[in-house]
Amino acid sequence: MTNTEILRDTQIVVDLNKLAGNMTKIKEMVGADVDIMPVIKANGYGHGACAIAQTLMECGASALAVATLTEALELKEAYPDYPVLIMGYTPDRLLHWVVEKDIIQTIWSIEQAEKLGQLAGSLDKTACVHIKVDTGFHRLGKCPSDEFAAEISDIFKVPHLAVQGIFSHLALAGLSEDEEQYQQFTDFIKKLEAIGCKFHYKHIADSIACVDYPQYRMNLVRPGALLYGMKGAQYADINVEQILTFKTAISQLHEIPAGEGLSYDYLWKAERDSIIATLPFGYADGYPRNLRDKGYVIINGTRAPIVGVICMDQCMADVTDVPDVCCGMEAIIYGDGKDGSMTIAEAASLSSTNKNDIIARLTARPPRVYIGK
Ligand SMILES: *Cc1c(COP(=O)(O)O)cnc(C)c1O
Repeated sequence: MTNTEILRDTQIVVDLNKLAGNMTKIKEMVGADVDIMPVIKANGYGHGACAIAQTLMECGASALAVATLTEALELKEAYPDYPVLIMGYTPDRLLHWVVEKDIIQTIWSIEQAEKLGQLAGSLDKTACVHIKVDTGFHRLGKCPSDEFAAEISDIFKVPHLAVQGIFSHLALAGLSEDEEQYQQFTDFIKKLEAIGCKFHYKHIADSIACVDYPQYRMNLVRPGALLYGMKGAQYADINVEQILTFKTAISQLHEIPAGEGLSYDYLWKAERDSIIATLPFGYADGYPRNLRDKGYVIINGTRAPIVGVICMDQCMADVTDVPDVCCGMEAIIYGDGKDGSMTIAEAASLSSTNKNDIIARLTARPPRVYIGK
């Protein structure tokens, strides 16, 4: 066995050229005055955070954003010099990691600031933070108020601490709700600036907001979905491409006579004499189990419906109409749609969820294969 040998037919192929293309399109859209901080939490939405980080930085990312400490540590291990922001909460008992590894941390209290400052002081370092403002999402941060403004002013005075940015997040509840959140945020920043709190970065826009609301881009945007080619914007458009292909190969073929069932509970029964292919992927690879009798794969240019209950590691497809079907033949699970394959967008719709869920749930089990660059 060599390091490069791929030990499974079920693979997630990620095209780094397409990723670079998407990054370039986002850059062109936002222009030179707006920095980009790609969001690569949840293992880069399933694509492999460490493997895509370099392409993103080479394409001009200013920093990389993740949700958790573990995600940040993984990136810092591979790329100690890349700036990495944790957008989520890190418990006080773990803040020493943030300081030791020079990770940028999101905070919203003087207690968090003092803890980070102390840790940084003891290591002769400066801890870097972004402050989170709650403008209505009620997830993290504090709402704008005189008390919070005074607290932020105190945070600026903490030794060994550098406040690099301030941010909020839109609920995307509608035009007027979004406008209301943005106004609250910018009014609060004006107030803070008036009392001497200056922020290098001010940001509120995720993928949808940075496409739909050019006026909310401020000086930094945080696209996640867009990088991976997921278009969710309602009011404007950007021509990004899906960068992954999820594929496998037939492991076995069965001839099933009309009337016979298959898989758990025999929930699907053959209406005609059928040829059924066993495919070596299942819900433990991140394929939605509720795509039974809805999902399909493309084999030899032909649509083959997934039939019967989807198992943890395998599922079955009706390949009766696939020309020259044979064992080992490639099956496209998620593709770009040009070959008739199911796109991430279609999988999301058939599975009654959103596109980010479909890609972020792809598990570690299928090997990632990187092409391009
Ligand atoms: C996940 C996340 C993003 C990116 O969201 P997309 O919809 O994928 O662009 C941006 N900001 C925050 C705070 C997030 O948690």
